[in-house]
Amino acid sequence: MVNHSLLRPELRPPVQMALLDDILGIVRANSLWPMTFGIACCSIEMMAAGASRFDLDRFGAGVFRPSPRQSDVMIVAGTISKKMAPTVLTLYEQMPAPKWVIAMGNCAISGGPFVYDKQYAIVNGTDVILPVDVYVPGCPPRPEALIQGFLELQDKLTKGGKTNFIRHFKRWPRKEQP
Ligand code: SF4
Repeated sequence: MVNHSLLRPELRPPVQMALLDDILGIVRANSLWPMTFGIACCSIEMMAAGASRFDLDRFGAGVFRPSPRQSDVMIVAGTISKKMAPTVLTLYEQMPAPKWVIAMGNCAISGGPFVYDKQYAIVNGTDVILPVDVYVPGCPPRPEALIQGFLELQDKLTKGGKTNFIRHFKRWPRKEQP
């Protein structure tokens, strides 16, 4: 189900039908179309996730689209410089709704190693300019981490994973720390 409370008010449909939302959520979760778009070194790991060894297509998200108008997932893979930020925003706005954003890597999450006192060139995280749905930490995150990010996004689109409907592998309970 698409959780409409997570969408911005202008993106929420005027009439909501729960069953249709459930079906659309499952369909969308199984056919995510990421944009072919990388800004820095994390994008190399993103490319590896889509290539044969890790095969992101196993999870229905392997068709990277060459245009934002055909994409519904933006993977921000790299450092957003202030010079690049307007371009990233334009690409996001050219994507049709509903759309989702994955912040991949420490640079996309918080500016990463390029944030220090009096730095003037780097945006301190994607969520300064865009609504982020999933954060994938690491410098760089491995392809498996990005795949986990997609599973989290699929969970989010299908009732927050409560139904366990979409998850392809068993979710093991976390052990309590002593
Ligand atoms: S998080 Fe690390 S690997 Fe990724 S773009 Fe930043 S510096 Fe490069």
